[in-house]
Amino acid sequence: MFLELKNFLINIIQAFLDLIYNQKCLVCSCAKTDELLCKSCAKDIQYLSSFAHRIFYNVPIYSATLYQGSVKKLIHKLKFNHRKKASIPLAEILFKYFKNIKEKNDYIIVFPPSYFLKSAQRGYNHMFLIIKEFSKLTKISINKNLIKKIKYTKPQYKAKNRHNNIKGSFKINEKELKNIKNKTILIIDDITTSGATLEEIIKCLKEKNINNIICLTISKT
Ligand SMILES: [Zn+2]
Repeated sequence: MFLELKNFLINIIQAFLDLIYNQKCLVCSCAKTDELLCKSCAKDIQYLSSFAHRIFYNVPIYSATLYQGSVKKLIHKLKFNHRKKASIPLAEILFKYFKNIKEKNDYIIVFPPSYFLKSAQRGYNHMFLIIKEFSKLTKISINKNLIKKIKYTKPQYKAKNRHNNIKGSFKINEKELKNIKNKTILIIDDITTSGATLEEIIKCLKEKNINNIICLTISKT
């Protein structure tokens, strides 16, 4: 009940913010644009090369940008300031980068689920908003139920603790296996730091003999 009321209030604040910030740049709030980003904030986005930046268990990890400048601010606005519209330029960044990746497969999108209380506190799962937009652009469908989060994990800032912290956090939903048959799993996340989350998910998928996987993140630190 408390969470429902809180989400209701957040939605009102959200609508109010959209009204004030309508036609203002999402990153710098200047009024010099009809788009979601002004020219200089859009120009600030530097794309990384379209080669895998890391490989875990033979799975390539691609990152579109570095976690800085406009991209960092957009992720913050979406995650912490309830600016849901920030999901649109973030999906566009992913899409622009994804088009240049050489691997072309019959994909299905999955994403690291957040523990249900975390999404409930925020009122939405920020990654799902991004992926919904990305799916519209690419026409690739999403599977929300393949990966389940079964353990609450505190945010960890020290890389060496991340792997232990995330261990045993995810579970593959076997009922979904028939829905991903012959598909390549495209795991999408916002930021990769140590890569511990992606690594753990890849490990879980491989244990179920799911081997066609690639990972795509908006940014890397
Ligand atoms: Zn701007």
